[in-house]
Amino acid sequence: MKRRILLQSLAVAAVFPLIPACFRAQVIGEASSPITPLNKPHEAWRGLVSLKAYKILFEEETERPESSNLVYEDREGTFICAACYLPLFESSSKYESNTGWPSFTQPIAGHIATKLDFKMIKPRTEYHCVRCGGHQGHVFNDGPPPRGERWCNNGTALKFVPKDEQLPTLRS
Ligand SMILES: [Zn+2]
Repeated sequence: MKRRILLQSLAVAAVFPLIPACFRAQVIGEASSPITPLNKPHEAWRGLVSLKAYKILFEEETERPESSNLVYEDREGTFICAACYLPLFESSSKYESNTGWPSFTQPIAGHIATKLDFKMIKPRTEYHCVRCGGHQGHVFNDGPPPRGERWCNNGTALKFVPKDEQLPTLRS
């Protein structure tokens, strides 16, 4: 009997650490230079970004498909976080997914983190900017080869900087 209880306890102990791990953010890739999270309260971004962007970035709303001009942005350049200006995607990773949202095959290494989102019945993988924590979109596994990933982004949560323009200084 004691042995059974011990085995059960061991099984619980083995599984338990995995549960909170699902909720923890996971950074995708390694940044070329370390990024310090801002830890700025969400409320503090009010007024710095548009209300529409605020609702997406800090309340995890989703914009209507086809509602962002960035869906059709096909110039060379960089897509940066609309709140803190951290570069998140290069134009070389953008592709036409015909979903009505800007879509990418991969983020810039170390600049995006994912976590599970239970807002829908089926859990989805949410992703956000590692610096300000602003929600960007969801990643799905129906993208093009070789990675097979579709990083489905709210255009409102991004800004586009063409290749011949200088990236803005990070905003804090
Ligand atoms: Zn950011």
